[in-house]
Amino acid sequence: MKPLAAVKGMHDLLPADSGRWHQVETRLAMIAGQYGYRELRTPILEYTDLFRQSLGRDTDIVGKEMYSFVDAGDQALSMRPEATASSVRACIQHGLLRHQRQRLWYLGPMFRRERPQRGRCRQFHQFGIEAFGWPGPEADAEVIAVSARIMRDLKIDGLTLKLNSLGSPAIRQTYRDRLTDYFAAHRDALDEAGRLRLERNPLRLLDSKDPALRPLIEAAPNITDCFDDSAKRHFDRLRELLEATGIDYVHEPLLVRGLDYYTATVFEWSSPALGAQDAVCAGGRYDLLVGERGGPDTPGVGFALGLERLMELCGPVPALTPDLCVLALGPEQQVLAAHTAERLRDAGFSVISHADGGLRSLLKSADRSAAALAVLLGPDEQAEACATLRDLRDGRGRDDRQWSVPHDELVERCRALLPEASQLLQSA
Ligand code: ATP
Ligand code: MG
Repeated sequence: MKPLAAVKGMHDLLPADSGRWHQVETRLAMIAGQYGYRELRTPILEYTDLFRQSLGRDTDIVGKEMYSFVDAGDQALSMRPEATASSVRACIQHGLLRHQRQRLWYLGPMFRRERPQRGRCRQFHQFGIEAFGWPGPEADAEVIAVSARIMRDLKIDGLTLKLNSLGSPAIRQTYRDRLTDYFAAHRDALDEAGRLRLERNPLRLLDSKDPALRPLIEAAPNITDCFDDSAKRHFDRLRELLEATGIDYVHEPLLVRGLDYYTATVFEWSSPALGAQDAVCAGGRYDLLVGERGGPDTPGVGFALGLERLMELCGPVPALTPDLCVLALGPEQQVLAAHTAERLRDAGFSVISHADGGLRSLLKSADRSAAALAVLLGPDEQAEACATLRDLRDGRGRDDRQWSVPHDELVERCRALLPEASQLLQSA
């Protein structure tokens, strides 16, 4: 029999790591909240047409990476490979863009059938934001500022922010024609996949990861040369705003994104620490997508951040440890211990309890839990309606770090000893 295993490219998040993920996810939600973004949750499954029409038929995602199937009711469904199309669908369906603007964030699993390797899973997680209804470069700057704040908050160094603009659809068409002429003149250097891209969408050639094509790509014409006044104004103002807020970036005139819906601004955060798949966050403007999907003409701008890659870049986050460990020293104290632990949780502490074994092994369990304080309940304590409180953080076993505390003063004493835990409580 084949050993049990998860689907290739799809990973379990084990208890040793889930605390860290949770901490980072909480920070992301908090930062988005600081800028007025609110959470949108959409289903994992959507009608396949949504992605086909939104992302573009010739994109890698739609062409070969989607998990698509026909369900028992003959509906063509796909597991979402990204969430901008779903956000647009939800906004249109619920009338969220009728005479209003929206700042939204999302977080959840995405699915792409790519070759599993470092930084590439088939189920991965994205946190993203979308700002619907703001046409000006201030919104682009805000979206980029959210991503920059995330990187700063999580103390991720060594990142590069690459920035470019794809201009308007008319500019893109002009640029497309120029690129077609350029690459057609170098047709011999292209492999079959490259020639297909040349025919279908030459912009996609710029996105190629093939090292043999690098010199050719680097010498390709720049889209900036095709800009009209309006495209130039938008891009210049964005650069000015970024500079004014101290966000460093590099203008990469050949940066294009792999999806059809982008207009004007595109950007990407990358880090050499990630290896070949070096992008951790990517986004841009998509001013036509809502209108094309049948909604009211509404500009949009946003980004998606890959959590697996983000986690790889985050330094170690201190493990979450319980505040208190309640120890029942004998079977007669188990009820008292359960009651005491609940009372301490009512007061907001995180508490684990141990009841099996002798004093030595109980203290060992308390040590292993890395709790700050132990609450010992034995027959003597029970008789005197008190508990022995022992500070496990330093001076372990020292008599001056151990106190006999009456039951009704226990919560107060713990608060005094763990001011940080009680601060957390007060702000909650
Ligand atoms: P890449 O250039 O790495 O293929 P992409 O352009 O396909 O990325 P987007 O669709 O813009 O990526 O997704 C945004 C982010 O989501 C990426 O920067 C990355 O961090 C993450 N991501 C995308 N695909 C995967 C994957 N298969 N596994 C893990 N993370 C991914
Ligand atoms: Mg990709």
